[in-house]
Formats: sequence, C-alpha cells, structure tokens
Amino acid sequence: MKALVTGGAGFIGSHLCDYLIAHGHQVTVLDDLSTGSEENLRQLADAPDLQLVKGSILDTALVDDLVGSSDTVFHLAAAVGVHTIVDKPLESLRTNLHGTENVVDAAARHGARIMVASTSEVYGKNDADGLTEDADRVLGSPLKSRWSYAAAKGLDELVAYVYGRETGVPTVITRFFNIVGPRQTGRYGMVVPRFVGQALADEPITVYGDGSQRRCFGSVFDVVPAVVKLMDTPAAYNRAVNLGGLEEVSIRGLAERVIELTGSKSTIEYIPYEKAYGEGYEDMRRRMPDTSLARELIDYEPTRRLDDIINSIVESK
Ligand code: NAD
Repeated sequence: MKALVTGGAGFIGSHLCDYLIAHGHQVTVLDDLSTGSEENLRQLADAPDLQLVKGSILDTALVDDLVGSSDTVFHLAAAVGVHTIVDKPLESLRTNLHGTENVVDAAARHGARIMVASTSEVYGKNDADGLTEDADRVLGSPLKSRWSYAAAKGLDELVAYVYGRETGVPTVITRFFNIVGPRQTGRYGMVVPRFVGQALADEPITVYGDGSQRRCFGSVFDVVPAVVKLMDTPAAYNRAVNLGGLEEVSIRGLAERVIELTGSKSTIEYIPYEKAYGEGYEDMRRRMPDTSLARELIDYEPTRRLDDIINSIVESK
C-alpha cells in the first residue's frame, strides 16, 4: 500500500503510521504540526518508507500532488480538542470542512481509496444505551458550543458519502468514540492524559461538572488495526462505522481509578463547566458506542480494558 496519512503526526495518526510501517507499507504524512508533533514520529525517524510533509490540508495543490502518488488515503487531519473548537469555532469549521473537501475531491480524482475520520459527536446530545450508526445525527440536534466541530464532521461525512457514491471510489467513514492511549496530550482538553499527568505530579485532579457524566474509552491499539482492516473490506465502503471501547465509566470513577493505579496523593477537585469552558457549555451525560456493525464487518473485538489503557499512558510518561 502507498498510504497518505493526513494528521499522521497526531495521536491516532502516528500510531497508524507505526502500524502501516510495521506491516511493510509506504507512508507519507501530511501534517501542519498544529496539535501534532515530529516527536510523535521519532520512533520512525530511520524508517526509509516514511516521509513527513509539513503542510496543510487547505493547500489544494499540495493535497492533489500527495494524493496523486498514493493508492490509499487515511484522512485524520482536523482541528480537534474542546479548547481549540470552543475558542476558534470558525477557524475549526474551515479546516475541517474545506480541508476534508480538498482531500476527498483529490482522492476521487485520482481513484485513491479513502478513510475519513469522523466522531461520536455527530450523534449530538444522545445518551442512548449504545449509539448505532443510524441514530439521529447532530445536524438535527446541535450540541451547544461544539456545534462547529460536530457540524463540520457531519458535513464531512456527507461530502465523503456523495463522492463515494458518485465516483465509486471506496470510502469508509470511521466514527471514533473517545479513543485514548500514549502520545495523546492533555493540552487540548483530553481527559485521560490530563488526569494521568495531574496524578503523576500529585496535583489535584480537575473534574469538570460533578463527574457523573459517563464515557466509554477505546484503546488506540484496538482501533488502528480496525481502521486498516475496514479499508480492505468492500462491505464497509460508503458506510459510517463506530469504533470505540466497551467499558463504561463515570468521569469521577475514572479519576479514582487513575489515582489508584498511579498510587497518587492527588485529591479530586470539581470545577463548574462555565468556569472550564465559558458560559453556555453543555456536556453530554453519556456517550456509549454500539460497535456491532464493526464486529459484523471485521470481527472487531476490543481487548484493552480501562486499566490497560490507563497503564499504557502511565508507562509512556
Ligand atoms: P490530533 O490532534 O492528535 O491529530 C490531528 C492532527 O491533524 C494533528 O497532528 C494536527 O497537527 C493535524 N492537523 C490539524 N490541522 C491540520 C491542517 N490544516 N493540515 C494538516 N494537518 C493538520 O487528534 P487525534 O485524536 O489523533 O484525532 C485524529 C482524527 O480523529 C481527527 O480527525 C479527529 O477529529 C478524529 N477523532 C478523534 C477522536 C479521539 O478520541 N481521539 C474522537 C473522535 C474523532
């Protein structure tokens, strides 16, 4: 495979590069290093089959050139992180919408297979017991404050569907649900690495809200092979597929688990959402994926438990 990984210097993208290189593929990374870093690819510095191109998915000519010399595109580049999105909603919208349009358009023109990274946020405020792919999407039920991100990702999906259907280019949309692991930074509001960092420094663990909101964290080590497998699965083409973990936990429970596993002296401090993110912020009470479509398509069975995920992050520090 000659793969182009947009956002390949980021958290999920760099693990995907590790996996592709280990499986004998040629990889080009396109990344503007806004939230990603060269450090994330340090372990591949001597790999002759990895090339890093520093540039933006908004650069149409560059995207066209790189997609033209690839047969498979993993499109992960996006403006991400609650802080980025809440502070710069229009800029995030532009990157996520126009950037994706550039990448999808080039893939269709050059006939490259493409995976487009989407998010559980397209389901909007929906705390159903296991969100299935056909649940109501965010365009009908906006989530305040993160609307620009969710809307752009929802529109990205539509762009990918339309191009996939009209051009016949194999297209897979992956909806990630709270994926975590080593290299994810807590700087942009990601909760697990932030808690681990605070615990290791014996600082108070800052929980936003009362901590009763529930999440289901998925390991990047379970998700990356699944992404690659989906690209080789014709039954997955032109579909959106949930990918995530299976074990649900409250954010308060997560903080307690992190304290226990790190042997930290940290206490838990509760911070109102308005103080953390500004007026009008609304969080989702619960976000739980139904991964039965992924199981049906590729036998997706996540094996890493929450403790494994936390321990892998602790060990990477
Ligand atoms: P990340 O921030 O580590 O990765 C995003 C990468 O995109 C970074 O390396 C960043 O530098 C790069 N980037 C941003 N704007 C760019 C631009 N204009 N041109 C080129 N590169 C650019 O985040 P991640 O968690 O690895 O997310 C990867 C993808 O998965 C994103 O599309 C994100 O929306 C999606 N996603 C992730 C999760 C999760 O739980 N981690 C959940 C839902 C969706």
